[in-house]
Amino acid sequence: MARTVAPVEPQLEKSLGEKIGVLIAVVVPFVATLYAIVLLWQQYVGWRDIALLVTFYVLGGLGITVGFHRMLTHKSFETHPAVRFIFLVMGCLAVEGSPLEWASTHIQHHANSDGEDDPHSPLEGFWHAHFGWLFAFKNNPAVYGTWLQRDPMVMFVTKYWLAFAALGLIIPFAIGGWTGLLWGGAVRIFLGHHVTWSVNSICHTFGNRPFKTRDASRNNFLVGVLAFGEGWHNNHHAFPRSAFHGLRWWQIDISAYLIRTLERFGLVWNVHRVKEADERKRTNAPRGNEAAWDLDVQG
Ligand SMILES: [Zn+2]
Ligand SMILES: [Zn+2]
Repeated sequence: MARTVAPVEPQLEKSLGEKIGVLIAVVVPFVATLYAIVLLWQQYVGWRDIALLVTFYVLGGLGITVGFHRMLTHKSFETHPAVRFIFLVMGCLAVEGSPLEWASTHIQHHANSDGEDDPHSPLEGFWHAHFGWLFAFKNNPAVYGTWLQRDPMVMFVTKYWLAFAALGLIIPFAIGGWTGLLWGGAVRIFLGHHVTWSVNSICHTFGNRPFKTRDASRNNFLVGVLAFGEGWHNNHHAFPRSAFHGLRWWQIDISAYLIRTLERFGLVWNVHRVKEADERKRTNAPRGNEAAWDLDVQG
């Protein structure tokens, strides 16, 4: 299955209101981060602010990587409904859209990676892949990830995703006041956004390609660390369903460590792993025999 998915409808467009929403989500954290740097210069930052930044960066980041990406989009493992719900809510904290929107967009990315219908390929420009695409692209769940709309939990969290995202502002404000909101909210969202977007821009442009894939995906150590393992992006495109993106001991993959820990405690199961034979097949697949490279992405 996989790469044969073709859009049966013309591409959708974002409404003006949605574009303004994206503009706010991109610009406000950026301006707030500049302001925070000025305050930092004046040493107007406390340990509590930094703790809020790190805590919410980790919660939102793992919500995206383990929750929206590996659990929801790629079905890399199964888990208890309560754990699933927690991961979906955590993903909302990152302010990267609802689970439905995120997963549908990402399914479209895997089905057309660096092709014409890829939402965010750097072949259309590095900055387009980084965040320009957010203004131009609207996900189409009627084509990509039709099963998402049949999942009541996905639809519930999607309906209230902005309220869950707001928790990532309200809680830092309640704990740390205005500077808590600045660092644990705005700066944290800014960092999370650019790290996630780097997977789309940097990891399709800079890095090495140990596995043959039909796209330009690359492994990038720095993004691997910052994005909790998602920077091993060539590995991921070669084996989309694998719960682990880091495939060597030195390929740091914090999301994988969490999944493995949860598995040990019996909280997740049916964890997908890459078989050595598949790795060999993917490394040695001759050019011209592209059928051998086909992906097992969910769609
Ligand atoms: Zn990719
Ligand atoms: Zn993926």
